[in-house]
Amino acid sequence: MKFADLHLHTHFSDGTFTPEELTGHGQRLGFAALALTDHDSVEGCAPMAAACGAAGIEFIPGTELTAEHDNIEVHLLGYLMDTQNQKLLAEIGRFQAVRQNRIRDMVMRLNHLNVPLEVETVFALANCKSPGRPHVARALVKAGFCKTSDEAFERFLKKSRPAWVPKAKMSALEGVELIHQAGGLAVMAHPGLNRTDEIIPALVNAGLDGIECFHTKHSTKTAERYLEIADKFNLLVTGGSDCHGFSKGKPLIGSVKLPYEHVEKLKAKIAERKTATTNGHK
Ligand code: AMP
Ligand code: ZN
Ligand code: FE
Ligand code: FE
Repeated sequence: MKFADLHLHTHFSDGTFTPEELTGHGQRLGFAALALTDHDSVEGCAPMAAACGAAGIEFIPGTELTAEHDNIEVHLLGYLMDTQNQKLLAEIGRFQAVRQNRIRDMVMRLNHLNVPLEVETVFALANCKSPGRPHVARALVKAGFCKTSDEAFERFLKKSRPAWVPKAKMSALEGVELIHQAGGLAVMAHPGLNRTDEIIPALVNAGLDGIECFHTKHSTKTAERYLEIADKFNLLVTGGSDCHGFSKGKPLIGSVKLPYEHVEKLKAKIAERKTATTNGHK
């Protein structure tokens, strides 16, 4: 039986592994295919593709975009896009700038709370274009202001806590279109975590291709529920561990093993779309 993990992060966003380390774990666990889905970034895809190639693992380029619809936050996974697509890179660049400004705002808030963390400490620790709250949390721990990242989130960074800053997000409908125009498939990430059920029909209307039924934080019951929803809306099924390396305790890679047939279905949909386009249909 062949398996895939289609939801993984590296240090190109808020994971701790390099693409090479992540691939090494995937190889040790016997994965046939791995997808990289860093937040608002595709920078790790080239090195990850090289590492997977050397390890005899099929690589699926991807990303995870933070978006919203009707004030509901939704994470969109993009798969098999052209990672050189100019519009995709421009939009990702815009959201990386939003992330960097948000880090500055959060640090400013911390400073007003008499926590003299320096923004450069966070940027140095993050060392990537797509920094997020986990980097602020780790910087707070490293500088001795908190004992653990969890404490940093609880005291300062969680929604509505004093250093929390809302993030300007792209529209989910535009996110689906952005992924499509780059030749990729748009998938709703961990619906059981974000509670995005009510916006599924709107996203399906906008062309959503799939839904992440299997996720580390989905119970068997939750996975079954989304398999039914996938069936109802004729959506592709994906799954992954959402491994962030050591940034959230132990590495999660291996906790979800998606049967490979779902990867074949993703590729078939891309192939179908290409044939339709060359035949003059949309
Ligand atoms: P951001 O994209 O900057 O808003 O950060 C989101 C990241 O922070 C995700 O990877 C979450 O898993 C992580 N995160 C969100 N809330 C918490 C929390 N309460 N404790 C630890 N990590 C969290
Ligand atoms: Zn993350
Ligand atoms: Fe997510
Ligand atoms: Fe993720």
